[in-house]
Amino acid sequence: MRYVVVTGGVISGLGKGITTSSLARLLKARGIPVTVVKIDPYLNVDAGTMNPYQHGEVFVLDDGTEVDLDLGNYERFLGESLPGTHNLTTGKVYRSVIEKERRGDYLGNTVQIIPHVTGEVKRMLREAAERSKAEVVLVEVGGTVGDIESMPFLEALRELQQEVGGRERMAFVHTTLVPVVGAVGEAKTKPTQHSVRELRSLGIQPDMIVARGPAVLTPDLKAKISLFCDVPTEAVIAVPDLPTVYQVPLHLESQGVGEYLCRRLGLAGAPPEWGAWNQFLETYAHPRGEVTLGVVGKYVQLKDAYLSHIEAFHHCQGTLGVGFRLRWFDSEDLVRDLSERRALEATDGILVPGGYGTRGAEGKIAAAEMARTRGIPFLGICLGFQMATVEAVRHLLGFEDANSSEFDPHTPHPAVTLLDTQDSSQGLGGTQRLGSQPVDLVEGSLLARLYGRSQVFERHRHRYEVNPEFVGPLAQRGFVVSARSPDGRVEGFEMTGHPFYLGVQYHPEFLSRPQGPHQLFQGLVRAAVARRQGIPLAKEESSRVAASSAVAGA
Ligand code: GLN
Repeated sequence: MRYVVVTGGVISGLGKGITTSSLARLLKARGIPVTVVKIDPYLNVDAGTMNPYQHGEVFVLDDGTEVDLDLGNYERFLGESLPGTHNLTTGKVYRSVIEKERRGDYLGNTVQIIPHVTGEVKRMLREAAERSKAEVVLVEVGGTVGDIESMPFLEALRELQQEVGGRERMAFVHTTLVPVVGAVGEAKTKPTQHSVRELRSLGIQPDMIVARGPAVLTPDLKAKISLFCDVPTEAVIAVPDLPTVYQVPLHLESQGVGEYLCRRLGLAGAPPEWGAWNQFLETYAHPRGEVTLGVVGKYVQLKDAYLSHIEAFHHCQGTLGVGFRLRWFDSEDLVRDLSERRALEATDGILVPGGYGTRGAEGKIAAAEMARTRGIPFLGICLGFQMATVEAVRHLLGFEDANSSEFDPHTPHPAVTLLDTQDSSQGLGGTQRLGSQPVDLVEGSLLARLYGRSQVFERHRHRYEVNPEFVGPLAQRGFVVSARSPDGRVEGFEMTGHPFYLGVQYHPEFLSRPQGPHQLFQGLVRAAVARRQGIPLAKEESSRVAASSAVAGA
């Protein structure tokens, strides 16, 4: 077992997650089995209770664990599903230590951060590593070196390095900022020097420096960083912002990073295989046109809150060869601002993602109504699906006071109600209907055609569900159920006679990958193309699309 630990210095938000994902991909391209673990030093047990406005989207794994959005990056770059044990938080570690203390496992000893908390971190890391059967485990440490919260984790990693056999077995990659300042645009290495000094004061010597920022690292600058930080010049790598994050692995490859890491860790990898990855980037770089998609939500100020949705459209671009422009609509504005409604009407397709809370709910209902009545391609996900159902109950069945009981507990027409499995005494953390669940698709439906199968597994995260009472009456108005869980819960609706109108209770965005864009996002993009007209899809896709033209309503 080998480890590659990725730390960050100077500031957060440097793209450590993409760096980690890309390093993992470099090794995977060489046929080396890899996996990734994320350490989040916050005290929350998991990301489930966190506001997307602070930390971005809450990502959900197959096993139902609610995790940091970086796990989504790892899954997309590796094309693999990860278990919840691959996200360590201070909350999880302390909970486990305190449970052990209460059980008496520490045999009367004083329980301390070192060695007990650090010991628990090492145990959790080793266990995740062993279970994964990977040869190399990448560990990303969230936050920046020097944060109080990350200290026990860095100490645990320092100890682990000794235990697993030193630097030949565990390499540290430090991501830092190299800012460019002044009128002449001088690149500054001082912040890097300081943050490496901080890292070394914790007993950790980096093996590679990934410099982020617009600077081109001249041989001089590389030599300077190399000298101050004690890493070879070949291990000082500049990563500028690239047009797509999926270019980062190839950028690192071209700088010899894959080869260097293998040498450092004594890994015998096969020659790297980038065929499909290159194909994706090639298609991505030459879109044959562009569609405009309206995204209606309440967290639109922070795009990270919708990261997986945005990535799914990137995956479509690299596969279908259709560029996209996302026009963001604050759902509250849609209710009060006519010009926003006009702008939404002018889009080629509308996506209403998931969410919680009353604010903006009426705007989502308005968006669903517009899509339904104007024939605009529509995909409603989770709350978006629930609001589309409320819209249909209000306007197709005439129950104007219909609502979700999440927003109006006393509505006489609850189109969406609390799941019967929910119990308010359980608290809010990890208590929703979560994770991968089977979904049966109705034969002949748009959904079944998009997937080309009759059952799929999709990831869930919800507390409310569509009220079965309205299913029969809605079907008579053309609003039909096209997916159900094996125990009968409504998982999807579609509108007959509409070019593309789809709502699903689950979250397709979590399963979209560059090598496999999710079918529902592909469906929406194709339908938007059909509405736009005149955009030819990428060659390899056009025959498949022709075969299923009904999909896009073309
Ligand atoms: N708030 C809704 C529910 O709990 C939708 C959740 C979501 O969109 N993820 O069911």
